[in-house]
Amino acid sequence: MKMKLGKKLFLAFTLVAVGVVLITGIVSKYRINDKFDEYLTNQHEDDIKIIISKIEESYDEDDNVLNIDTNMLKDYAYIYNLYIKVNDLDGREIYSSSKESIIPKMNGLGKNRTEKNMMGNYNFGEYIEEKYDISIDSNVFGELTIGYFGVNNLNYQDVIFKSTLTESFLISMIIAIAFGIIISIIISKGITNPIIKITKVCHKIRNGDYKTREEVKTNTIELEELSNSINYLAESLDKQDMLRKRLTSDMAHEIRTPLTTLQNSMEAILDGIIEPTNNRIESCHEEIIRIAKLTDRLKDISNLEQANLNLNKSKVEIEQELISIIENMRPLFAKKNIELDVDIRDKSEIFIDRDKFKQIIINLLSNAYRYTNENGKVVVKEIISKKMLEIEICDNGIGISNEDMPYIFERFYRGDSSRSRETGGSGIGLTIVKSLVEAHDGKIEVMSQFGKGSVFKIYMPV
Ligand code: ADP
Repeated sequence: MKMKLGKKLFLAFTLVAVGVVLITGIVSKYRINDKFDEYLTNQHEDDIKIIISKIEESYDEDDNVLNIDTNMLKDYAYIYNLYIKVNDLDGREIYSSSKESIIPKMNGLGKNRTEKNMMGNYNFGEYIEEKYDISIDSNVFGELTIGYFGVNNLNYQDVIFKSTLTESFLISMIIAIAFGIIISIIISKGITNPIIKITKVCHKIRNGDYKTREEVKTNTIELEELSNSINYLAESLDKQDMLRKRLTSDMAHEIRTPLTTLQNSMEAILDGIIEPTNNRIESCHEEIIRIAKLTDRLKDISNLEQANLNLNKSKVEIEQELISIIENMRPLFAKKNIELDVDIRDKSEIFIDRDKFKQIIINLLSNAYRYTNENGKVVVKEIISKKMLEIEICDNGIGISNEDMPYIFERFYRGDSSRSRETGGSGIGLTIVKSLVEAHDGKIEVMSQFGKGSVFKIYMPV
């Protein structure tokens, strides 16, 4: 049966509370009652033993008669609420207490209204008579009859005690159950309220409202984590949504520009407005190449997906590797007259994927080249400690704005300054670098000052 979580928790807690209270209440009530009845039975037997021994003591051996102290028996009858009758062997009655001693019970209890109310409808049970022999040294010389009400001959105090006991159990059970119900309401609300809030956020996200956030106040660690995760999810979806929109508009813009140029040129040639000169055909060709490059960038997506797979590690001399990459790139940097310095502090062989390492450094250096103005400076620093390889690529280029900073590692993200200038970037260079560094269990950090330069720092465990 489907049920709301709140109702389910409430029912479960309440059932447990009621069950526990009922079981403990009933078990302890019956256990205490049993013990009390046992005590009363023993007491009752002791009372009768005392009466029998008193009667036996009154036996006069010389005269062979029972000299019973009737006042004493009368007192016993009143004290113990018993009917006492003594007969000799021939059945003649020697003593009989009046039934007054047990009359309060027969008359419906209590002597005044308050007592009667307190006693309630307590049932004393059936009238019982028991017979006992009166004997000395196995010589029976009389018979004692004891009459009383109920199983254990409860007296007035016993009845009050028993009914108070039952009442106390009932009151404590009712209080415990009420307490259990209140606690179960509080607990189930404490669990369901945050879940209801989280569900609302999920519904909003499902309907495309990625800006939604909800600070769920709860002292349940798991629920707090769930709420944080949902907020984080909304934030990531929001970010991805923004990136997707940005990418789509970039792509549309980049395809539209060469296509419009091509279309205009072709129409003008077809209409005979311009001549299909070599120069014009060449510029059309350049536009076609731009479109082709664009499709190549789209192809990069699949490369990116595989970037961190299949590491082919071997021992690599980092120092030599860096120098060879830098020397290969030096002619490119020379084109913009950018100074390219190397600061290699340690030499060491490191277990690494050579090609992927090359790709990381080339991507970072290409960016440094792209985003550094003519006559700028780029420095590559390398430090190898016992545990870590650190490489730093610093430039005094255009820097990264605070708005771009959170997104530069996102696929296809290009900073505003990169989009507005002809840098030839595709927005996946840093994404590839990050996934390759992470594939080596390393990390990448960036510090940058807009207009002043950037520092990219990679750490890889040795
Ligand atoms: P792109 O192909 O646009 O260079 P990347 O993923 O390599 O793509 O870089 C993402 C963005 O990060 C760039 O568009 C640029 O805005 C910024 N960026 C990367 N490296 C640098 C750098 N050295 N200096 C300034 N901005 C940089």
